[in-house]
Amino acid sequence: MIRVGSGHDTHRLVAGRPLVLGGIRIEHSRGLDGHSDADVALHALTDAVLGAIGEGDIGTHFPPHEQHWRNAASSIFLEKAMRLLRERGGMIANTDLTILAEAPRIAPHCDAMKAVLAPILGIATSRIAIKATTTERLGAIGRGEGIAAFATVTARLPYV
Ligand code: MG
Repeated sequence: MIRVGSGHDTHRLVAGRPLVLGGIRIEHSRGLDGHSDADVALHALTDAVLGAIGEGDIGTHFPPHEQHWRNAASSIFLEKAMRLLRERGGMIANTDLTILAEAPRIAPHCDAMKAVLAPILGIATSRIAIKATTTERLGAIGRGEGIAAFATVTARLPYV
């Protein structure tokens, strides 16, 4: 059967942190704040995978108060979600990711992000879409206070 999951995440941009987005480090004056590396794109994607299999959300599996996850690479969250999907005999069909950021420009980095995500998701880069947009300087994202991401995942699972 086909199952769809969606995920959203927003993190604040702060000085003194590296910007890690879509699994890669991007040169920028500020980075995302959070208890892990705060990669909003991977967090949204992790929630989308978990959503497709009805397994709660990233906070269920990785409680933010646990010091263990401090500055952790967010790929471990996505890998855990993928492990749960595979335990059910599932696989990803495709994913569609949208990143909202006023700065830096995301488009030049999309291919590098796809190259990181493909082996984790177990699919070709052609099945990963990464889109980026600003919010036309509207709202908190538009003022550059943070970066947000929305993810949709389509998964194929045995019928239950
Ligand atoms: Mg998050």
